[in-house]
Amino acid sequence: MSVNIQAIRGMHDVLPEQTPLWQYAENCIREVLASYGYSEIRLPVVEKTELFKRSIGEVTDIVEKEMYTFDDRNGDSLTLRPEGTAGCLRACLEHGLLHHQTHRLWYYGPMYRHERPQKGRYRQFIQLGVETYGMSGSAIDAELILLMHRLWKKLGIRGKVRLQLNSLGTIAERIAYREVLVAYFEQHKHCLDEDSLRRLNTNPLRILDSKNPQMHEVIANAPELMAYLGDESIAHFKAITTSLEGLGVAYEINPRLVRGLDYYSKTVFEWVTDELGSQGTVCAGGRYDGLIEQLGGKPNHAVGFAMGMERLLALLETREDIAVAKPVDVYLIRVGNKAEQEGLRFAEMLRDELPSLKLQISIDGGNFKSQFKKADKTGAEFAIIIGDDEVDRGEVGIKFLRDDRPQQTLSHTQAVSFLQQQLQITN
Ligand code: ATP
Ligand code: MG
Repeated sequence: MSVNIQAIRGMHDVLPEQTPLWQYAENCIREVLASYGYSEIRLPVVEKTELFKRSIGEVTDIVEKEMYTFDDRNGDSLTLRPEGTAGCLRACLEHGLLHHQTHRLWYYGPMYRHERPQKGRYRQFIQLGVETYGMSGSAIDAELILLMHRLWKKLGIRGKVRLQLNSLGTIAERIAYREVLVAYFEQHKHCLDEDSLRRLNTNPLRILDSKNPQMHEVIANAPELMAYLGDESIAHFKAITTSLEGLGVAYEINPRLVRGLDYYSKTVFEWVTDELGSQGTVCAGGRYDGLIEQLGGKPNHAVGFAMGMERLLALLETREDIAVAKPVDVYLIRVGNKAEQEGLRFAEMLRDELPSLKLQISIDGGNFKSQFKKADKTGAEFAIIIGDDEVDRGEVGIKFLRDDRPQQTLSHTQAVSFLQQQLQITN
């Protein structure tokens, strides 16, 4: 007996009954991005491994243990993208988009990380990434937050997410803080877990990002980076919080928020929820001015974020009032030799007349009863009935599938107006 092949662990299918909610979310996202003047960029799913090593940093979870890396047939080391920021910047540098220009960009697609799969954490997951280049003012940091704030409202989940903010300052400020932090953790070495002990020498700030509950206390008592920031970093941060306050956007300052990636500077933020257990970060980002030079570009500015779509969808699923469009409005039943061909012709005529009508026709025949059953299953509002008698009379029958109302017999033109009116089709 042969065994059915199954999907790869942590990589999921989105089935037809789930896609309407995804499309609903995707449409809202597109509308909000358009309303701020953002352009879509489409990027490859595979990049040279070196790109991620150089941008994300060698001592990060992603590069240390999560990347899907392989040698292609030429022996080049390639990696399935674990995130989009590096590829987006690579593309913009490669095509000269960063030279005396500003850009507001977004991309959408799968990312790959070899993590332990659990609710809200997968090996293939979809991200919306938003990246802006060339703008130093804090207003762009604030804009990205406002954009997401608008999206939450549009999706009806504003009450389910909270905004957390922190500033990581400049590289020089972080180096000064790093010394203080290392000294503190050295003193409390006995409290550190294995990962953190390793990070103490390589990337001590990342200890603050640890999700191990046993580390909670030692992290909570650690010195705060905010105290080591210079005037400019403080002013930048203050300008953002003042803007948000002026616009009524609530935020919390979280001094432990350092983000998992090395390339952030100044602003970092996360939108978190309490509704998804430990996978509570739905959207995360910040400013990463230094990365452009790190990838070989001229000094420049960059701010962006990424949102995990599966986590967003999990939040949307908790909303019961979202009416997602059904795939079929009308189901066309054909019974009889003449009706088979006439049904096809009539269906094509309807699609010409009412382009937005969602019409499905029956294919494999059967009697009226079995075809009505199929019609019912599609969720359609109406069945159009064409038997040989209807063909002879140049008419069609229309049955209300969801209401107990009498069946109608209409001419072809009457049928078009009837459907147009009933389904409120405007084209
Ligand atoms: P986490 O702390 O949850 O591991 P991260 O810091 O690794 O997240 P980022 O690289 O900043 O996450 O990615 C941004 C967003 O992408 C996350 O906030 C989350 O919503 C989503 N995301 C990241 N990794 C996964 C994953 N393995 N499965 C599903 N969504 C993910
Ligand atoms: Mg992670």
